[in-house]
Amino acid sequence: MASIEMRNIVKQYGDGYPAVNDVSLDIADGEFMILVGPSGCGKSTLLRMIVGLEDITSGDMVIGGKRVNDLAPRERNLSMVFQNYALYPHMTVFENIAFPLRLSKTPDDEVRRRVQEASDVLELKEHLERKPANLSGGQRQRVAMGRAIVRQAEAFLFDEPLSNLDAKLRGQMRTEISRLQRRLGITTVYVTHDQTEAMTLGDRVCVLRKGKIQQVASPRELYEQP
Ligand code: ADP
Ligand code: ADP
Repeated sequence: MASIEMRNIVKQYGDGYPAVNDVSLDIADGEFMILVGPSGCGKSTLLRMIVGLEDITSGDMVIGGKRVNDLAPRERNLSMVFQNYALYPHMTVFENIAFPLRLSKTPDDEVRRRVQEASDVLELKEHLERKPANLSGGQRQRVAMGRAIVRQAEAFLFDEPLSNLDAKLRGQMRTEISRLQRRLGITTVYVTHDQTEAMTLGDRVCVLRKGKIQQVASPRELYEQP
């Protein structure tokens, strides 16, 4: 687990207005931070710079006390949960969760142990031999999170993970993500444009507008302001 510190982060695509314009934000170890704001305000770009999928034009990205500007995604040990889950359809749930451990050539018995642990937390134990096509949307989301958990990543990053789900499932998953994050105590950055998610999920909400931070506050502070 790790803190995430952003110092005067700028992202300039071409010669237009900066997509991210001098953002400084400290996310504490174990904190759940929401990034919210209208379409085009720079949420995804900021998240992608944390993960390392986008170069930083200027400023410093510091994760767990270490400057990571020049590190590739795989060297940052973060885990991004995508909207489309990015599961492998031909693999079982077990193998989908185990995938990052296979890549790092983890011994079989340890793979089994870690997948068991993750599927316990995620209540996926009964489904380990199934294929993603035979799972509900919520179960698939949990498999994607399982993959993030077994890697023992420093932080979870979510990019609008629920926007493809229907309202009922979205509500269930909100509860689930919140419960899981608190149980694991893992630093989390969660991008959304959904007000309900912003107000119910996070410890703090960072409101972006035109690439700048407009406000950082707890949901309660946001709710109570005039
Ligand atoms: P959000 O996630 O808040 O909708 P984005 O981070 O996707 O916003 O985009 C922020 C701004 O940067 C937008 O003006 C968008 O058009 C621009 N932008 C995003 N990605 C690229 C890119 N690859 N090339 C050029 N401009 C981009
Ligand atoms: P390469 O340098 O080999 O082209 P990348 O740096 O693009 O590969 O990514 C390789 C590793 O980085 C993968 O093993 C994957 O775990 C990790 N990675 C890539 N994209 C992401 C992401 N969005 N979130 C978390 N990890 C990622």
